[in-house]
Amino acid sequence: MSTNATNTLTAAICYERRGKIGLISINNPPINAISAAVREGLISALTRAKADKVSSVLIYCMGKTFIAGADITEFGKPQTGPTLPEVISAIEEFPVPVIAALHGNALGGGLEIAMAAHYRCAAQNTKLGLPEVTLGLVPGSGGTQRLPRLIGVEKALAMISSGKAISADEALQCGLIDQIIAASLPESGIAYAKELIDNGAKVRPTSALIASPVDEHFFENKKNSLKPTGILAPAYILELIELATKTDIHEGQRVERERFLECRSSAGSAALRHIFLAERACTKLPDIAPSVTPRPINKVAVIGAGTMGGGIAMCFASAGFPVTLIETAQENLNRGLDQIEANYNQSVKRGRLSQDQLAKAISNIKPSLQYADIADADLVIEATFENMDVKKAVFSKLVEVCKPNCILATNTSYLDVNTIADVTGRPQDVIGAHFFSPANIMKLLEVVRTQKTAPEVVMSVMVIAKRIGKVAVAVGVCHGFVGNRMFKAYARQAQLLLLEGCTPAQVDTVIQTWGMAMGPLAVGDLAGIDISYRSRRDQGICSGSIAEFALPDLLVEMGRLGQKSGSGYYNYEPETRARKNDQSVHDLIQSIANQWCITRREISNDEIIDRLSLALINEGAHILDEGIAARPSDIDVVYVNGYGFPRWRGGPMYLADKIGLDKVVRKLEILREQTGDTCWEPAKLLHKLAATSQTLSSLNN
Ligand code: NAD
Repeated sequence: MSTNATNTLTAAICYERRGKIGLISINNPPINAISAAVREGLISALTRAKADKVSSVLIYCMGKTFIAGADITEFGKPQTGPTLPEVISAIEEFPVPVIAALHGNALGGGLEIAMAAHYRCAAQNTKLGLPEVTLGLVPGSGGTQRLPRLIGVEKALAMISSGKAISADEALQCGLIDQIIAASLPESGIAYAKELIDNGAKVRPTSALIASPVDEHFFENKKNSLKPTGILAPAYILELIELATKTDIHEGQRVERERFLECRSSAGSAALRHIFLAERACTKLPDIAPSVTPRPINKVAVIGAGTMGGGIAMCFASAGFPVTLIETAQENLNRGLDQIEANYNQSVKRGRLSQDQLAKAISNIKPSLQYADIADADLVIEATFENMDVKKAVFSKLVEVCKPNCILATNTSYLDVNTIADVTGRPQDVIGAHFFSPANIMKLLEVVRTQKTAPEVVMSVMVIAKRIGKVAVAVGVCHGFVGNRMFKAYARQAQLLLLEGCTPAQVDTVIQTWGMAMGPLAVGDLAGIDISYRSRRDQGICSGSIAEFALPDLLVEMGRLGQKSGSGYYNYEPETRARKNDQSVHDLIQSIANQWCITRREISNDEIIDRLSLALINEGAHILDEGIAARPSDIDVVYVNGYGFPRWRGGPMYLADKIGLDKVVRKLEILREQTGDTCWEPAKLLHKLAATSQTLSSLNN
């Protein structure tokens, strides 16, 4: 076989003729994103291959992956070089078979390129998907038109509207790829290309295929079941896939491009892109040098097998870590283990876990009543009662048994981690690891740094968080850290709104319609109203002494603890947990308002949204002022991943910029004047930024 020298066409593309095959390799680390250099290079390489009169072309990528998506840093900048649809047409219209050989991730524009090729082969490890919807976009280069032609309407819709990738096996089964090949690219791809040509394979443009017909009501039913959100993409995806069944590829792609551009310039997509970048930015800690090496963590211990301890143990066990779970009594341990097993069984039922994975995960958890059993742990996470004396006793015990350099973490929600660290004599090893409930599901982890936590301990917890699938945000110590401190301000407004004229259902429905996953009162019922009740008593606040807490205090004292007792702000059906309004709660609110001389009035939906969102924004700005969060976008990550804040609104601090900081300050000042409530005093940072026409996002780094 004759070999031509490899030619570098652009910084990212090489072309080489090997015998009768034109080899095009893409090399744009780390993810071979489709940059202008990639697009330009592909066009030049195809031109060269045509001139070389090759009998087939193989496109593959260097490094760890095939093209894993667009270069999102190019968004919002003027387009240079050919567009991706132009590149894709050039591939599909190429006169001899083009074969895409995939490995790693073939995502977004990467899969669109692969689908324009006439044949696709993939290494076993390949994941294939169109995740654009997660950034509020529709695939913009033929994805919505080619995928249904290749794998059918229903499967294509499931993939595009979920954004989830499928495995090479699944792709082979549904016809998205033609062959699974060995990982040794390009040789395995070349072998497949040769086999095709030897067997007389011809060009096979995907656009010439017909998308399988579906039931006449299929699209209508799907449209009717769409949930209203702030992003355009879900409805457009349906429209475009339907179009693929009705028109030719040119018309389909023309409309698709229009929809793509419309989505790309929409507010919802901009917010989703912000949070996507924010989630990456929060892993970088400005004050910790990249050279700081995290401590190795191989063995984990969790103290307390209650709601949180059980969930935390599951996180580590599912990720393959051996976990020792410590309790004070056998019955507590049994109860905790039963709950863990029930949770895992639930995951198996929902198809998220195989029976095998369940058995493996459970076998990773070793229950124990002996602290001596955790002597070799590299990381201990304490999740006992939220009480300083209990925590101090546990940490005093931990320093007796744990090896030097073992990281000692607490899952406290509010308590001062500095005070806990002080009892250990090794405060550099102590840190907060604040998981959210249910810990095995919720993505967020607040990594709470004390004044003395060693940088490598912070890094260790940030790194381990990623390994267990969490989004970690480093925060400083204050009452409630970032998330709960802001939630307190938000929940307080909800209580004031009740006393001033709202019903629980009004507050919850309005803010849920605005986009929050749940309203604040429904959240209270879910978590248990008794938790904050106990916390107020621990802080020495007498029951009923503060107007805005009089209602939850009374409800708890009536035994209405929330969902767990069948009633709280609402009543709950025992079987279905369906929520019902309760007139007696409305009467209670009225009587508390009378007692505190509050005249109830009609409150508009806008006022509810303003007060709840401004409470979050102002508290968030105080948190930034105090250096508790490193950047505004970190706060957005906390709210989107831990508190059900709508991702498509980008988080509370992003929202503040969108409203305009001068307007935010004006609104806060009006509320301050109207209510006399000092909580509305605008944070200094907001004043400062508004006065100089700056945005909070200018502080993101
Ligand atoms: P829980 O009451 O469900 O569980 C606490 C467990 O700790 C109990 O099983 C108890 O037997 C055990 N325990 C108590 N003292 C112990 C000791 N000395 N050694 C070993 N085990 C001991 O409480 P939870 O809701 O799981 O909360 C645990 C911690 O997590 C608290 O600090 C809480 O503030 C925090 N937290 C709770 C939530 C939540 O929503 N429940 C969310 C985030 C953080």
